[in-house]
Amino acid sequence: MARIGILTCSNATQDLGCSSASCLADLRKREGTFSDYPKDKPLDLVGIINCPGCPTLAGEDKLLQRIRALAEFRVEAIHFTYCIKTLCPFREKYRTALEKAFPEIKIVIGTHREHITPEEFRQRVGRLFAQPRKTMVDLLTIS
Ligand code: SF4
Repeated sequence: MARIGILTCSNATQDLGCSSASCLADLRKREGTFSDYPKDKPLDLVGIINCPGCPTLAGEDKLLQRIRALAEFRVEAIHFTYCIKTLCPFREKYRTALEKAFPEIKIVIGTHREHITPEEFRQRVGRLFAQPRKTMVDLLTIS
């Protein structure tokens, strides 16, 4: 059994209203980055946690504290969501900090399938704030 944690972006979950539905759907269907696990290995979602927000001086420490809460449940891998992969300027800094603090946990960049290019996704996110009726589903669907 693969014990999995997911780290989501606070901007995506709170400002964009993302419910992580696409990530969870592909975890269930073993698609996107979840297709990399051996077929005979059941996937066990241990928990989902938000990043603590774009970093201030204590940003990295706050993230490590949150991940510690997941690590205590013996997660083997933590997936950075597609939102973090495409939008977060701190992604590599966070990856390095987590790999150093939790060497036993594999950090995977990405979750669900990529239906549009990262650039298109970033442009759609930028437009979202001018079109408040749009949702994350609109953002991830080919138009
Ligand atoms: S630090 Fe990255 S993951 Fe966290 S809220 Fe900011 S953009 Fe999102």
